[in-house]
Amino acid sequence: MSAIDDLPPLREVIRRHELSAKKSLGQNFLLDLNLTARIARAAGPLEGVDVVEIGPGPGGLTRALLAQGARRVIAVERDERAIGALEEIAARYPGRLAIVAGDALAFDPRRHVGGAPARVVANLPYNIATALLVNWLTLEPWPPWYDRLVLMFQREVAERIVALPGSKAYGRLAVLAGWRSEARILFDIAASAFVPPPNVTSSLVSLIPRANPLACERRTLEQVTQAAFGQRRKMLRQSLKSLGRDPQALLATAGIDPTARAEDVAVAGFVALARALTGQSASRRA
Ligand code: SAM
Repeated sequence: MSAIDDLPPLREVIRRHELSAKKSLGQNFLLDLNLTARIARAAGPLEGVDVVEIGPGPGGLTRALLAQGARRVIAVERDERAIGALEEIAARYPGRLAIVAGDALAFDPRRHVGGAPARVVANLPYNIATALLVNWLTLEPWPPWYDRLVLMFQREVAERIVALPGSKAYGRLAVLAGWRSEARILFDIAASAFVPPPNVTSSLVSLIPRANPLACERRTLEQVTQAAFGQRRKMLRQSLKSLGRDPQALLATAGIDPTARAEDVAVAGFVALARALTGQSASRRA
């Protein structure tokens, strides 16, 4: 029995299902159910909410999400060895845990959610964490199918997501995250909380999608940030030459100082540049 339910402790689950952690699958398990409960609480009230969990592993966070009242958890796990452990949790919470055996990168939750608010809560495998986040932030149509992402990242990645202009961590990821969401770090988790411990501290990040992000074409915005941050030490009048248009004219239309560098420009500035590139008027919203 554990602190949050009547299922066995996670160490026992791992032993019985021979779930020794595999580095290739980014496996760093959280075995402290008080900690997984804290993460689930940080995801906000879960009653009536469908939660998509990526990489449930032995199910510590899954159990916390269910114990905290999630209407359903849709758990996507690539490691076949974990499926038996997850089936035991599904039996304890009939009809509330859907186990999807497969690759999260190829998984479209839209077939599984609908009719209730949906949220992603996950201790992500770090090798695909940024790719998953970019997928969720570039969904079309927008607003997306989820009302919030609550995700564990390496601290360094978390800092790149929430970074503000003028900081070293500010780059393409911060612009994308800031354009489409309100992102913030909720709290850090020491490496020692994981089994095995990773080399770095982790941070739990909350991203709430903006209902009306500033209007611009997502691909054009990416084109602009790629050019600007691809040569981040150069002035924009130089770095934007790779866009194949007169950078001075683009910068003038966007109202940006041509001697500024990428890291000085706020999200709204990049949106203005993307709009200048596509010839959109400045007043339209998405
Ligand atoms: N949620 C568990 C916890 O907190 O203890 C495990 C987290 S562990 C950091 C990442 C999990 O993601 C592992 O269970 C791993 O097998 C799974 N995983 C790795 N790559 C995956 C992929 N491409 N699709 C789905 N799950 C994956």
